[in-house]
Amino acid sequence: MTTGHDEGANRPETGRPRWIVGADGIGVRSWSGEPVEMPTGRLHAVDSAGFLVGRAVCMAPVVLLDPADWRWPDDTGDEWPRCWICHALTR
Ligand SMILES: [Zn+2]
Repeated sequence: MTTGHDEGANRPETGRPRWIVGADGIGVRSWSGEPVEMPTGRLHAVDSAGFLVGRAVCMAPVVLLDPADWRWPDDTGDEWPRCWICHALTR
């Protein structure tokens, strides 16, 4: 018989909210002469629930980007066009 409990299984996530980044689509672009998959359209923010169903916080269907390469920017930046609805919802 065991009396142990699954302690630690429900560890609450603490710290900053992290958004996964999604895009309207994925296209192949030439980058330094090599084909590289790049997002097309705008970037969207995706939360953990949206991650499961592939929808951004603005409810648009998105292609999820690699979290290792893409972070949802907290500050304004012009490097990539962002969905203004997601921008407003993540502030
Ligand atoms: Zn969006």
